Amino acid sequence: MRISGKTKVCAVIGDPVEHSLSPCFQNAAFQHLGLDFVYVAFTVKAEELRGAIEGVRSLGFHGLNVTMPHKISIIQYLDELDEDAERIGSVNTVLNQDGRLIGYTTDGVGALNALKNNGVDPKGKKIVILGAGGASRSVSLALIKEAKELVILNRTVRRAERLVCDLHRLVREDKKVRSGGLTEENLRKELKNADILINATPVGMMPNEDKMPVKEEHLHPNLVVFDLVYNPIETKLLRKAKMIGAKTIDGLSMLIHQGAASFEIWTGVKAPIHVMMKAAKEELRKRI
Ligand code: NAP
Repeated sequence: MRISGKTKVCAVIGDPVEHSLSPCFQNAAFQHLGLDFVYVAFTVKAEELRGAIEGVRSLGFHGLNVTMPHKISIIQYLDELDEDAERIGSVNTVLNQDGRLIGYTTDGVGALNALKNNGVDPKGKKIVILGAGGASRSVSLALIKEAKELVILNRTVRRAERLVCDLHRLVREDKKVRSGGLTEENLRKELKNADILINATPVGMMPNEDKMPVKEEHLHPNLVVFDLVYNPIETKLLRKAKMIGAKTIDGLSMLIHQGAASFEIWTGVKAPIHVMMKAAKEELRKRI
C-alpha cells in the first residue's frame, strides 16, 4: 500500500472499535483494485462525537462507517440523509461529497444480499425475526416489501410493537406484519410454518456462545436460519440448525455485504466481495 498526499481516508468510528474487522477487509478491497484509499479505525466516545465530525469535515475524510453507539446520534451532525437512512432513522455509512456529509444505511441491503448470495429469495416467504433493535429495524425494513408474512418477536414486546407500527406505514394494508413476545409459545406457533428465521439479538455471541435464542425443538429442515451474530461465525444456533438439515447463513456474510455496499458508496466501484470475505476469514483465524 502506498500512502500519498492524495490518498482518500475512510474510517470506522464507534466505541469500542479495536476488534472491528472492517479495516482488514476494506483495505484488502482497496488494494485488490489498486484504489488510492486507506481505511482506519477510531474510538470515539459518545460525548466526543460532535468534535469527531468537525474533524472529519476539517481534515477532509472521504467516508465513514459508524457503529455503536453513534448510529442514531450522528444524524444531527450530517447535511443530508438518503431515503433509507431517513426512513430507518439510523446511519452506518457517511460520504463526504465536496464538503457535504451524506448519511446512508447499508445494514438492510447487506442482509438482503447475504440471503440472495446464499441462494435464498425472501419473496413470498414467511420470515420470523427475533429482536427489535437497530439491526432488526434495518433488516425488517429491507425485507418487508418482499416477504409474504413478517413476524417480529422481542423480549420487550412494546419495542416490537413500535417497529411493526413503523412497518405498517410502509406496506399495503393486506400485508401481514405482526409482533409478539419472545416466548416459547410464540416461537412454537410461528416457526412451525416459517420459511426463514433471523436472529437479530446478541444471544449466542461471545462470551455467551453456549446460548441459543430458540430451542432446537422449534427448528425444522425446511427453515433457513440466518444468524446476524458473527462472533463466533458458526453460532450454536447455526450448528444445531445445520445438524437437523436446515440451510444456514452466518452473520459474517451480512457484515461483508453491508461493508461492500459502503465501499461502493465511497468509490463508485463494484466491491470485490470474495476478496473482502477471504481477508475477514483470515483475520478471524489469526485471532483464535
Ligand atoms: P440492539 O439495538 O441493542 O438490539 C438488541 C436486540 O436484542 C433487542 O431487541 C433486545 O431486546 C434483544 N436482546 C438483547 N439481549 C437479549 C437476550 N438476552 N435475550 C433476548 N433478547 C435480547 O442491537 P443491534 O444493533 O440490533 O444488534 C443485534 C445483534 O445483531 C448483535 O449481535 C450485533 O452484533 C448483530 N449485528 C450484526 C450485523 C452484521 O453485519 N452481521 C450488523 C448489525 C448487528 P430488548 O428490546 O428486550 O432489549
